[in-house]
Amino acid sequence: MHRPAPCMRLSHYPINTVKEIPSEAELVSHQLMLRAGLVRRTAAGIYSWLPLGLRTLRKVEAIVREEMDRAGALELLMPAIQPAELWQESGRWSEYGPELLRIKDRHQRDFVVGPTHEEVITDIARREIKSYRQLPVNFYQIQTKFRDEIRPRFGVMRAREFVMKDAYSFHADERSLAEGYALMRLAYTRMFQRMGLNFRAVQADTGAIGGNASEEFQVLAASGEDAIAVSDADDFAANVELAAALPPAGARPPPGASLQRVSTPGARSIEQLGSTLGVPPARCLKTLIVAGSEGAPVALLLRGDHELNALKAQKLPGVASPLRMASAAEVQAATGCEPGYIGPVGLTGLGIYADHAALALADLVCGANEKDAHFTGVNWGRDLPEPAAADLRNVVEGDPSPSGHGRLRIVRGIEVGHIFQLGRRYSAAMQAMVLDEAGGLQPMLMGCYGIGVTRIVAASIEQNHDERGIIWPEPIAPFHVVLVPLNLQKSPVVRAAADALYAQLALAGIEVLYDDRDARPGVKFADAELLGIPHRIVIGERGLAAGTLEYRHRRATDSEDFAQHAALDFIRGRLQR
Ligand code: ATP
Ligand code: MG
Repeated sequence: MHRPAPCMRLSHYPINTVKEIPSEAELVSHQLMLRAGLVRRTAAGIYSWLPLGLRTLRKVEAIVREEMDRAGALELLMPAIQPAELWQESGRWSEYGPELLRIKDRHQRDFVVGPTHEEVITDIARREIKSYRQLPVNFYQIQTKFRDEIRPRFGVMRAREFVMKDAYSFHADERSLAEGYALMRLAYTRMFQRMGLNFRAVQADTGAIGGNASEEFQVLAASGEDAIAVSDADDFAANVELAAALPPAGARPPPGASLQRVSTPGARSIEQLGSTLGVPPARCLKTLIVAGSEGAPVALLLRGDHELNALKAQKLPGVASPLRMASAAEVQAATGCEPGYIGPVGLTGLGIYADHAALALADLVCGANEKDAHFTGVNWGRDLPEPAAADLRNVVEGDPSPSGHGRLRIVRGIEVGHIFQLGRRYSAAMQAMVLDEAGGLQPMLMGCYGIGVTRIVAASIEQNHDERGIIWPEPIAPFHVVLVPLNLQKSPVVRAAADALYAQLALAGIEVLYDDRDARPGVKFADAELLGIPHRIVIGERGLAAGTLEYRHRRATDSEDFAQHAALDFIRGRLQR
């Protein structure tokens, strides 16, 4: 049966748009979501979705749901409140930091407000699935999560309470896990394409959990919190945390200068040192002392213009993980000198790693392990033993791509999704076993796949807006068409034409926002643009007299007239659907 589309009369909606930029909002998406009245802050990092915002959120959810279903995943719904026992079983009761909100019920029993659902789904799987014959299976839900983020900010982008789509797949062997992962990768690609997002699948760190493969889906936006390295010649993309910095090609130049001790009073930083000696940071050595994994600290050597990559460093043997910089007292104890003048010449009793790019230098400048003094003309091998070489730094713009093709560009992204081969981390800890073909018991292999559903709404606005407001891609716009009648309070002709068109479009399944408020045209136009409805139709007395209405796409700069009698066909022709 044909049902009229959901439509809305603005005269029945307590819309409360604002012209001014809200002072608490830094990001454009946050500003526009508040100005357009899509969300309201209820508490720090906790938001209410008002009807217009909820319409877009539901469309995002619907696309996610359709593609998950198409990929064969099964929807379920797990509780937001989870018993502590499950988290104790997995070990995360003690491992998870203060982002985990722990609560007690009236009987003093411990619970958590779920930040994610690996424990609950593993508990379900171990009770429901007995044999490899029942595998593979993928369960998903669209559900509210709570993470007590240390810095909730940017509105729904980094909230404490947010909606996530989380999916968990279970497999009998690695091959099946890889296939399930590939299916999810495809489903994600399809859904983000359908939402009109400009995104990249980016290699990501598998973190403490380990696991084989992990990719983040990053929406490209200058405001993004993540730095991503992308090749300019192929589709290589990796989180900067992870992207390998290749050793420089070619041999190190031979020594040209002799070792000299120079006085550098007060030159503690690379910048100060550079200006004192007139040497570019790229020829200076940065010596960082970090905590060791057992006992003695470790020295990490980098080119002065390069940045330490903590994730890479903490994976090195002997380096404490997570990485921790040594305190001034620890530096003093290990080197006999205060921080700011440390260098590898004559440095003994602690492990030393040098970044490949630092090892490629000749005649470099470094600290002399003495206050207010540095060495110049330092050369590896001649003035100090060659230290162990390692990749210690963040890649920078122009570095060769680890894919072997092209050079790296650094772009910024907003993580909207994350897919991950988990392996047996949870199934082994929680004894989620199945019978294998030989009749033995095996822990199941798992994959997990998250999407920040509420974050997507903000990310989309980051990519689709102008100085006048939001520009929704049609598939997630709260309404397809906004009807703007001019002076309908005074003009019965305009009212009659607008009412008729509203009814006609609704019946045709087109979602219409009808601005039938008693408001000035300027107010209606400004709101229509702020709200970002893709197609706008203006109904005015003068046009009606000539038998025309006026159309403009939200992205267009000019309007066009079209025949009133053929309105439905005209509008259908403009819709993407
Ligand atoms: P982030 O690095 O942004 O904190 P995460 O690695 O903690 O993300 P996951 O645990 O992989 O995120 O969660 C799956 C998805 O949930 C993320 O890809 C992201 O889109 C979304 N998400 C995570 N934290 C938040 C938050 N605080 N507010 C809104 N969405 C979030
Ligand atoms: Mg997080």
